[in-house]
Amino acid sequence: MTDERAAGVPFPAGEETPESGPAALADLWALQQLDDRLAGARARRAALDDGSRLRAEVEAARAAAADAAARLGRAQATLRDRELHLASTEAKQKKAEGDLYGGRITNPKELASLQDEVASLARARDRLEDEILRLLEEVDALAAGSARAEAALRALADRLSVHVAAFEAARDRLDGEIAALAAERAARASRLAPRLLRKYEGIATQERGVAVAAIRGGFCGACGNTVPPQFISRVRAGEVVTCERCRRILFADGQF
Ligand SMILES: [Zn+2]
Repeated sequence: MTDERAAGVPFPAGEETPESGPAALADLWALQQLDDRLAGARARRAALDDGSRLRAEVEAARAAAADAAARLGRAQATLRDRELHLASTEAKQKKAEGDLYGGRITNPKELASLQDEVASLARARDRLEDEILRLLEEVDALAAGSARAEAALRALADRLSVHVAAFEAARDRLDGEIAALAAERAARASRLAPRLLRKYEGIATQERGVAVAAIRGGFCGACGNTVPPQFISRVRAGEVVTCERCRRILFADGQF
C-alpha cells in the first residue's frame, strides 16, 4: 500500500519546502541516518557501566577489612589482659614462695595453706601461659588476615578509581557526541516540510525509531517484504511510498 496523500496533496500555503521529490526523500533518509547514529550513541551511553557493581564490592571489602581489624584488636586486648594477669600471678607466686621458704612462718597449718596457695598459683600460671601461647598464634593469624583484607580493599579501590576515570571519559565523549548529533538532527529536521516531518515522527514513534527503510535487492530494508518494481520506480521518481507490510517510508539510495 502506498501513501497517495503525501505524494498527491499540493503544498499548503507558507510551506515552501517540498513534501516529496527526490531531494525531500534524500533529506528524510539523511534524517533517518542521523537518528540511527543518535540512537546508537544513546544506547552506548545507557550501557556504560558507572562502576556501581565495583563500588559495592569496594564497600564490602571495606566492611570486611574493618571487621578483620576489629577482631585483631579484640584478640590483642585479650592477650594484653592475660599478660598482665600472668605478671601479677607470677608476683603473687614469688611472694608466696618467699613466705613458704623464708623460715619466718613456722605454724604447720599456715605452712600447709601456703603450700596450697603456691601450688594453686603455679597451676594458674600454667593455664595463663598456655592461653597466652594460643592467643599469640591467634593474633598472628588475625594480623595476617587483616593485612590480606586491607590489601584486597586497596586493590579494589584502585580498580574502582581506574574504572570511574574511564567511565567518566567515555560518558563525556558520548555526551558530546549526542549533543552534536542532536543539534545536527534539529537543524536537519527544521529544513524538512513540516507535514513530511510529522509523518516521519509518527512512523518513527510506532516503529522503534525507524521511519525510513532503504530498498535492498528489491526488498524493504527494515522488514524484508518484497517491494514491487512499480513502487521502486515511484520511489525513484521522488514519491513518498510506504512499505506494504511495515508502513515505513521507502527510500532508494541507488544500491538496489
Ligand atoms: Zn517494510
